[in-house]
Amino acid sequence: MINQFTCSGCGFVVQMREGMEHYAVTGDGAKKGLDPENEESAAMALTGKTMAQLTTEGLLGVWVEALCMRCMATVMTDREENRKKCPQCSGNNLTASYEMEGSPCPKCGQGSLRSDEGEMFI
Ligand SMILES: [Zn+2]
Ligand SMILES: [Zn+2]
Repeated sequence: MINQFTCSGCGFVVQMREGMEHYAVTGDGAKKGLDPENEESAAMALTGKTMAQLTTEGLLGVWVEALCMRCMATVMTDREENRKKCPQCSGNNLTASYEMEGSPCPKCGQGSLRSDEGEMFI
């Protein structure tokens, strides 16, 4: 599912993947997203461990797509306290997809971002 947000001021459009995705930490420390349709077998293929094992060992996390309010890149970041810096510009103002509705526009700084969903019913 893709959510599209449009700025009420300047018309800036950003598309974000909706929802959250599990990731597993592989043997070399890299984080790899798990196919939401098939998490269990994706986890097994990547790490050789089940979801339950990964949870026990602290190797399972959740990330969300986020928009960098500085350079407007979309990046994957940890959901909560471990929210990362933007890999593109090192800015630390990332807004997750579920926080986008009503957020100030990173482009013009005047308008706010609105989900396009509602407008289909007009
Ligand atoms: Zn704008
Ligand atoms: Zn950035």
